[in-house]
Order: sequence, then structure tokens, then C-alpha cells
Amino acid sequence: MTSETWIPHSQANHQQFIERAKAKGRFQTEDEIVNFLALALCGEAGELANILKKQWRGDSLDRTALIAELADIRIYLEHLASHLGVDLDEACRQKVEVVRKRLAASEAA
Ligand SMILES: [Mg+2]
Repeated sequence: MTSETWIPHSQANHQQFIERAKAKGRFQTEDEIVNFLALALCGEAGELANILKKQWRGDSLDRTALIAELADIRIYLEHLASHLGVDLDEACRQKVEVVRKRLAASEAA
């Protein structure tokens, strides 16, 4: 499944989740959805950090869990960007160029 196919499926899942939450009286405003997504993204980053912390202290790496948390992070990030009206692909293209120029400038200095 490419990003062209998984993102629409993920958006459909997200829309279903939002509609169910609204029916229960939650997520009545766009701000509430954005705040939820931002916190969820941080939560998933924490779950990823915990997996890496456990490996760092000597436990074996749970690669399946690691992959799942990376996916959770990307999915929440995609939804957050969408709700904020941000073209994440374009934002990344621009950011990569900024970093490339910064590295080139520091190389020349
Ligand atoms: Mg998770």
C-alpha cells in the first residue's frame, strides 16, 4: 500500500472516529480535534521513546512495537497537518531545502 492509498484509508478511519466522538458529545469544535491530535502525537512519541529507552537500558528491541509506534506517529501527524490545512509533503520539501542550504553554508564557512 503506497502513501497514495494508505492516507485516504487512514483519513476515512479518522473521519469515522471523529463522527463517533461527536455523537458522544466530544470534539464539537475544530480546535478540540486539533488539540486532541497534538496530544495524541506527543503520546505516540512518548511510546516510541519508551521502547527505545528499554533497548538503551539493555532490553531486547521490540521491533514490531517500534514499527507500530512510528506508524502511529506518522498517522497522527498526517491527520494534524490535514486539520491545520498544511500540505505536509510540500512543507517537508521546503524544510529539506532549508536544511540542505544550511549544511552547504556551514560547509563553505
Ligand atoms: Mg501507539
